[in-house]
Amino acid sequence: MNVLIVFAHPDPRSLNASLRDVAIETLEAQGHSVEVSDLYAMGWKAAADRADFPGLAAEARLQVASASGDAYAADALTDDVKAEQAKLRRADLLILQFPLWWYSMPAILKGWVDRVYAYGFAYGVGEHSDRRWGDRYGEGTLAGKRAMLIVTAGGWEQHYSPRGINGPIDYLLFPINHGILHYPGYDVLPPFVAYRVDRLDAAGFEREAQRLRARMRTLESTAPLPFRRQNGGDYLIPGLELRPGLEQAGTTGFALHLAQGG
Ligand code: FAD
Repeated sequence: MNVLIVFAHPDPRSLNASLRDVAIETLEAQGHSVEVSDLYAMGWKAAADRADFPGLAAEARLQVASASGDAYAADALTDDVKAEQAKLRRADLLILQFPLWWYSMPAILKGWVDRVYAYGFAYGVGEHSDRRWGDRYGEGTLAGKRAMLIVTAGGWEQHYSPRGINGPIDYLLFPINHGILHYPGYDVLPPFVAYRVDRLDAAGFEREAQRLRARMRTLESTAPLPFRRQNGGDYLIPGLELRPGLEQAGTTGFALHLAQGG
């Protein structure tokens, strides 16, 4: 299997870098080939702006989605973006790895998504009709591939529990798992989250490393999160609301979009 790790931490001696190396070593030991996009080391340009569309006429307004679609269709995206898209096409499994910063991903990784996920590549794919609303949420360019998150957090696991003050981790990660990974087609594996890491000692590191090794050894047998397929009949089109009665009684919010009610 080809694995791509998109890594977003500025320090090569960080906990995240050590965990990334554990993941790489475990994957390679199983015969997988691993490619890494180390965004800070690459000097990744995070902001999507006019420089991304060199073919755009000087007098034209920058409308990012249409400029992105035109450039993608004309094979005129910038080389850094094209290289990342080629890596995504090659990879059977995508891992996004990052420290949780302000309840989300660091800006450099969000900027990778904004720029690499071009119109025609990750969105704006497929037909819209009374049966289909584009190829997305389980369908699309990256369908048939798997993806997962490796995340570290300063907060305790309890703080991210269903009644924890930070909000449940599944809810905080939903926009990434569902909106960024499932949207262009990925089957999304449950995330690996290491909690309370800011003063991790050697024993704590070994415990997290062991948990991560176990996840890296079971990637092919781990069941993906049971997100519902958009065009599979569960949603009314074009309103894209879940048909009434499909959820377990009492299920609300993000959990509605999991086939077993979360
Ligand atoms: P590091 O700082 O590199 O290391 C953490 C600890 O692991 C250190 O004590 C280090 O010595 C130890 N360690 C043990 N073994 C090793 C080893 N082998 N290699 C390297 N280190 C080791 N947390 C939240 O929960 N929610 C938030 O919303 C949130 N927002 C944040 C926003 C910002 C801007 C910042 C800076 C932090 C935020 N945090 C938040 C905390 C953040 O998630 C953690 O600081 C981060 O996950 C720690 O990962 P790291 O790789 O940076 O750890």
